[in-house]
Amino acid sequence: MADLDSKLSSVVGDRTAKVLGDGLEIKSVGDLMRHYPRRYMVRGELSDISALTEGDEVTILAEVFSSTNRPLRGRKGSIFEVVVTDGTDKLSLTFFNQAWREKELKVGRQGLFAGKVGVFNSKKQLAHPDYEMIPDGNDVDAAASSFAGKFLPVYPATSKMPSWKISRCVEMAIDSLDEIEDYLPEKIRQAHDYPTLHQALVQLHRPADLDSAEKARERLTFDEAFLLQSLLVLRRNELKKLNTASRKTITGGILEAFDKSLPFELTGGQKTVCAEIERDLAQDHPMHRLLQGEVGSGKTIVALRAMLAVVDSGGQAALLAPTEVLAAQHLRTIEKLLGDLAQGGKLGSQDKATQVTLITGSQSAPARKAALALAASGDAGIVIGTHALLGEKVEFKDLGLIVVDEQHRFGVEQRDALKEKAQKPPHLLVMTATPIPRTVAMTVFGDLDVSTLRELPLGRQPITTHVIPVMEKPGYLERAWERIREEVAQGHQAYIVAPRIQAGSDENADIDFLFGTESSDIASVEELAPRLHGDALSGLKLAMLHGRLSTEEKERTMTAFAAGEIDVLVSTTVIEVGVDVANATIMVIMDADRFGVSQLHQLRGRVGRGTSPGLCLLVTNAVAETPARARLDAVAATLDGFELSRIDLEQRREGDVLGARQSGTQSHLRLLRVLRDEDLIEAARRDAQEIITASPDLTSYPALKNELNAMARDMAVDYLDKG
Ligand code: ADP
Ligand code: MG
Repeated sequence: MADLDSKLSSVVGDRTAKVLGDGLEIKSVGDLMRHYPRRYMVRGELSDISALTEGDEVTILAEVFSSTNRPLRGRKGSIFEVVVTDGTDKLSLTFFNQAWREKELKVGRQGLFAGKVGVFNSKKQLAHPDYEMIPDGNDVDAAASSFAGKFLPVYPATSKMPSWKISRCVEMAIDSLDEIEDYLPEKIRQAHDYPTLHQALVQLHRPADLDSAEKARERLTFDEAFLLQSLLVLRRNELKKLNTASRKTITGGILEAFDKSLPFELTGGQKTVCAEIERDLAQDHPMHRLLQGEVGSGKTIVALRAMLAVVDSGGQAALLAPTEVLAAQHLRTIEKLLGDLAQGGKLGSQDKATQVTLITGSQSAPARKAALALAASGDAGIVIGTHALLGEKVEFKDLGLIVVDEQHRFGVEQRDALKEKAQKPPHLLVMTATPIPRTVAMTVFGDLDVSTLRELPLGRQPITTHVIPVMEKPGYLERAWERIREEVAQGHQAYIVAPRIQAGSDENADIDFLFGTESSDIASVEELAPRLHGDALSGLKLAMLHGRLSTEEKERTMTAFAAGEIDVLVSTTVIEVGVDVANATIMVIMDADRFGVSQLHQLRGRVGRGTSPGLCLLVTNAVAETPARARLDAVAATLDGFELSRIDLEQRREGDVLGARQSGTQSHLRLLRVLRDEDLIEAARRDAQEIITASPDLTSYPALKNELNAMARDMAVDYLDKG
C-alpha cells in the first residue's frame, strides 16, 4: 500500500516512473494524485473535429470510419490510413508500414487519439498518433479497463506519456492508496460541505458525475487558499511576537515642527493612515504595513511623517527607492518639504533638525564616504538610496524604520538584507502606487497590514485621457503636437514618452515589452526628439531622458526640467514612477499599446500634479476593435487605479499576477486563481484566522501543522533555488 509520500516507482514501476519524472516532474504518488485532469471527455460524446486547428496538440474522442492500406509510389513501404469521425467532420490518421493496426482500429470502434494536427492535401490529419481504443459493451475486459467510467479525464500530457497512460497510472495509485489523512480541520470541511481529502482526490480523477468532480475541484482549490492563508497568518503572528524599540511620537520634536510647517492640510485618508502608522510605531513589535495609494495620493508625506517620528525617538529611517532618478528625486522632495528641518548639524540650524543623505551606486567616492559617515554616526536621520543601501559598507547607528518605495521592484530578500543592518527588527513600511486588488494583496502581502489612500489631495486636477488612433485619424497626431505648443505657450511643460531608446533594437528598451515583439516601427527617444525638434516642435526646448544616460546626465536633465529650463522631455519609462514636476500638464505616449494598462496609468500620473488640469494622449497604430485598442480605451475611460490594475492582471498569466519573486508561493497554487477565486480566498482567510486564533500553535490540528511545515520547508527551498 502507498501514501502520498511514497515513491512513484513503487506503484507504477521504474520505467514508467522515470518517464513521468522526466517529462512531467511527477516524482511521488502525491505528485501524481495532484496532477489534475484538465477536463473530462464523456464516453460516447465525440470531439468536435471541425474545431481542430493546425499545430494544436490534441486528444480527441472519435469513431473509426474507414481504413485503407496503400503502397507508396516509387519506393518501398505502405501508408495505412484510418479516417475517424465525430459524425459530421472527418480526420485522417496516417501510419507508415503499420497495416497490422487494422486489428485494433476497427470500423465503428471509438478511441482516444492524440497528436499534433497537421494538414496534408488540405485535409487535417494526425501523423502517427498515439491512441487507445475504448472497449465496447461486449468486451469482457471493459470493466477492468481504465475507461470503465463514463468520464474520461484528460491530463496535461507529453508525447511519451499520453493522457490515457497517465490515467492508467493514476488508477493504479488510487487502488494502492491507504486512506489519506485530511489536514483540513473537520469543522471547516463540514461548514463548506466539502468531501474529505481522500474523496476529493479520487473524485477528481475518477468522477462519478460532473457535480462531484466540481465539488472535488472546489475543495482542492480552497485547500490551496486555506494553506497559504494559514501560513501567512502564522507568519504575521510570528512577526507580531518579535521585540523592537517602540517609536512613540513626542511633543516638541521634529515631527511636530514639520506638521506646523506644512502649507496644506492632510486629507482625511492621510490622517487615518498616519494614525494607523503612529499606532504601529508605538508598539514594541515591528510594524509590517503596506501603504497603497493612487499616483499622487500623497504617500510621500505619510512616509515622511513616519520617518520623522522615528527620528524623534533617536532612531534613523532608510528609504529604499527602485531607481537612481527616483532616489535623487526623493532627496530633493524631502529636503524641500523639510526646509530648515533638514539642515541639522549646520551652523545656526534648529536643534530639532536632522540631516538627509543619499547613497547610490554611482555617486563619487568622496560623496559616498561622507554619506556613509552620516549614516554610521546617526547624524543622518533619513538615509535615502537605491539597492546600494544594501551594500556591506553601509551601517546605521540605530535603524528604526525601513520605507520601501514601489514595492513591486524589490524582493523580500532585499527587504531582509536591509533589516540585517538594524540592531533590533526594524519597522517596515512598503509603499506601492500600483493598487492591488484585495485578494492579490492578501496572497502576495498576506503578512502585511494594508493601508489604502483612495482620495487625491484637494485641488488636484483630474487628468483627461484620449486615444489617438493614427491609422484612422492621422490628423489627430498633428493636433497633439499643437496641444504641446499651446501648453508650453502658457508656461507649462510636456512629456513625450516612447517605448524605446533607439530605433530598431529591443536591447535598448528600458522596459520589457509586455505585448508583441516586432520592432521595426516603434517610436524611440533618439529618433523622435531630433525629428520633432526640427519640425512639429521647432523652437521649443527639448531634452532626452533614458536609462542609458549617465547618472549625472539624468540628474542634470531632471533638475533642469524641474526648474522649467526644458519645455519638453522626450523620455522612456524612466519617468514612470514618482517623478514629480507640478508644472508639467501634458503627456503624449507614443505606441501606447506597447505598455501595460497599469504602466500607462502610472505614466499619466506624472501630469496634472499641480493646479492645472492634466492631459494625456495615447498614440497608437492599433486599429479599432483589437484587444490593444480595448486596453487603451479602458485607460482613457477611468482614473480608478484599482479597476485598471484588475484589467491589467486579468490579461497576464497567473505567475505574473503574483510576480516572479512569488515563485515559492506559485508552485503551491495549481488550481487557485487569485482574481477569479476572490470569494474563496476571503473565506479561506477567515477560516485560517479562526483556526489559528483557537489554537495559535496548531496543537489541536496536528495534520494541518504537518502540512504547513512541509509547505514552508518547500517554499524556503524554492527560494534558495532561485539563487
Ligand atoms: P504619491 O507619492 O502618492 O504619488 P506624493 O506624495 O508625491 O504622491 O504627492 C503628490 C503631490 O501632492 C506632492 O506634490 C505633494 O506635496 C502634494 N500633496 C500631498 N498631500 C497633500 C495634501 N494633503 N494637500 C495638498 N497637496 C498634497
Ligand atoms: Mg511618490
